[in-house]
Amino acid sequence: MRSVTAYATTAAKAPFEKTTIQRRDLGPRDVLIKIAYAGICHSDIHTAREEWGDALFPLVPGHEIAGTVEEVGSEVEKYTIGDRVGVGCMVDSCRECENCLAGEEQYCLKGNTGTYNAIGRDGRPTDGGYSTHIVVDQDFVLGIPEGISLDVAAPLLCAGITLYSPLKHWGAGPGKKVAIVGLGGLGHMGVKIAHALGAEVTVLSQTLSKQEDGLKFGADHFYATSDGQTFEKLAGSFDLIVNTVSSDLPMEKYFSLLRLDGTMVNVGAPPEPLSVPAFALIPMRRSWAGSMIGGIRQTQEMLDFCAEHGLGAEIEVISGEQIDEAYERIVASDVRYRFVIDTATF
Ligand code: NAP
Ligand code: ZN
Repeated sequence: MRSVTAYATTAAKAPFEKTTIQRRDLGPRDVLIKIAYAGICHSDIHTAREEWGDALFPLVPGHEIAGTVEEVGSEVEKYTIGDRVGVGCMVDSCRECENCLAGEEQYCLKGNTGTYNAIGRDGRPTDGGYSTHIVVDQDFVLGIPEGISLDVAAPLLCAGITLYSPLKHWGAGPGKKVAIVGLGGLGHMGVKIAHALGAEVTVLSQTLSKQEDGLKFGADHFYATSDGQTFEKLAGSFDLIVNTVSSDLPMEKYFSLLRLDGTMVNVGAPPEPLSVPAFALIPMRRSWAGSMIGGIRQTQEMLDFCAEHGLGAEIEVISGEQIDEAYERIVASDVRYRFVIDTATF
């Protein structure tokens, strides 16, 4: 075991505190990563506040990790010391089920191993990226291409892939009208990626306060959902809507925006159930789907795509002492557009 510095919370409403955690000794296929930056995802907040159910405390969240390789196990052939690498939402899976074999490890039939708040193969709780170092099997480590700096790359490991995967799956591209609901961490990456894929992109935000930014990220149109006219104006417009909102919404109003055979994909994961009248879906043969991050192969494809198109996250870099304040600002939709913790401040 090796002792490393981390920020942990000890109960659902407790503040984050600097502490020491243990990382496992390097196995033959393990990589020791010196973490430079860790993004703060709204899922960290849902988990730490036990909005999704019981959490394993003390909890070290963080699944948007970027850093450099410091040491490698004897059988590691994918990475060498000094490589720029990332880790996302999972650090293992069974590797044998049909979904793992298809490269969709996030849908592992035995359950993937979360980067934090899970029990690892060694029987110990996993600890995430709010930490100076992490040990991860090479198969769950991604290469960060030259051309994306580590701070703006970190959020791609969750926010980036969570939007890239459904946009690709449902064919966002030239001739497709795509709406992104919520311009937060996930949403702003959705706008950038959908635009780079060639789709016509509309942002549906609570107000127009982020309009200038949305258009700069590549949106063609920007509407406030607080304006009652928006839903009338845009009725039957979209092939695909990706909903990134972290709380309940009047879903039937959003379904009315889908055209014939349009699909609504929920990536936002509010704790409370969403309810929809059947007649919001029936008229235009509408579909309602969900999507969870993306597989390892597709995550690498997304990183390469972002490098090729010059895409990274819009970030506000913070210190370890500012995590609690950042959580409050995220919950208040006051994030432009991802907080990234600089571990050099630990
Ligand atoms: P975030 O940065 O807080 O962004 C969410 C955005 O939703 C806000 O910026 C806000 O945008 C909008 N919003 C918030 N409250 C709202 C409300 N009451 N009504 C309408 N709009 C509201 O969060 P995030 O990190 O992007 O994560 C978003 C959700 O996705 C979370 O539930 C998270 O757990 C989930 N998630 C899912 C996956 C997956 O694999 N499916 C992966 C990562 C995260 P505007 O100000 O523009 O309206
Ligand atoms: Zn996340």
